[in-house]
Amino acid sequence: MIDETDKPVKARVLIVDDQPENLIALETILDDLDLTVVRASSGEEALRLLFAEDYAVVLLDVRMPGMDGFETASFIRARPRSRHIPIIFVTAFDDPLERVTRGYTIGAVDYILKPINADILRSKVKVFVELFLKSQSLEIEVARRRRVEEELRASNRELEAFSYSVSHDLRGPLRAITGFSDVLLKDYADAIADEEGRDFLRRIAAGARQMDTLIQDLLSFSRLGRERILISPVDVALVVNDAVTGLNGTPAQVDRDGPFPSAMGHRTLLGQVFSNLLSNAVKFVAPDTLPKVRIRSEVHGERVRVWVEDNGIGIAPEFHERIFRVFERLHPAGGYPGTGIGLAIVRRAMERMGGKCGVDSAPGKGSRFWIELPRAKK
Ligand code: ADP
Repeated sequence: MIDETDKPVKARVLIVDDQPENLIALETILDDLDLTVVRASSGEEALRLLFAEDYAVVLLDVRMPGMDGFETASFIRARPRSRHIPIIFVTAFDDPLERVTRGYTIGAVDYILKPINADILRSKVKVFVELFLKSQSLEIEVARRRRVEEELRASNRELEAFSYSVSHDLRGPLRAITGFSDVLLKDYADAIADEEGRDFLRRIAAGARQMDTLIQDLLSFSRLGRERILISPVDVALVVNDAVTGLNGTPAQVDRDGPFPSAMGHRTLLGQVFSNLLSNAVKFVAPDTLPKVRIRSEVHGERVRVWVEDNGIGIAPEFHERIFRVFERLHPAGGYPGTGIGLAIVRRAMERMGGKCGVDSAPGKGSRFWIELPRAKK
């Protein structure tokens, strides 16, 4: 219906009649409409033409020698390519009613009586041509959007691959900085004139280490977008346990309110999600407060929701969406160290597993982060 350059083509109307004078009459009537009229003098010829190109409507004479209009219509309807093309039967006014109704059962959308009333024919054809043009512009739009989406996906892939290789290459020189400043501090500390000099060196090493963590986080974020993942039933209770163990003695009270129903996901990704949520929950607390974390689950129909709730500093509602983006941090790195990538990883991982995540929080009232996944069938 559209050519390769996505330009609309003129609507084509196929007229089928074995009598040349009838074809001329039909063509003359349709002459002042903005369309291309194509003639066929038999059912066979009509089928050949319909196979090659799309038509807005077919005007089909019922009485023809050889393959008649009804038979032709049955073939038109039987072929996937022409199945939806509207057919208007042209029948003699003295044709018995059964012939007309038979036309409808075969798939005619309308009929017109001979002798033909030019205005009626024109207005009927016009309706189908308009419909054809509308669906044609819709097809063009769909094709255009598909192309834009594909281009976007391709440039995203390129960008991810680029940032991956850049990040990778940045780590080498950084390792040299941290490695050599450690050696300086350890073996040449006395050669550095005073404590201030040593402090500068420590800061250089700490800065390089922070940058290395940042690059590592970026690399895992980028890998998360590219790697293929396999979704299977995951024992959520086990993953939660591993994440709690991963806190590695950080002073905190962590309560697990099971049971945790199994969910459809990816074990490693889910582990990363819980460990990011838990490390935030124990990190973002007011000074001198023992972090208290509660992990619990809820079943919502076919989905499992797991909450990670803390007694921390909380987050104002206007930041509830922003914090899930890369590098969005609400606090200076001095107060609460971090890279601003943890929650972006949580969101991306949840999306890759077909799940969702969010937060419910207010300043000073603690935060309740949640993640949701399809429940695993028993
Ligand atoms: P990071 O922890 O490295 O700073 P995240 O992407 O994990 O980065 O979090 C983004 C920001 O969201 C944090 O810097 C912090 O401001 C806020 N945030 C995340 N978790 C919590 C929490 N449990 N309580 C309060 N603020 C939080």
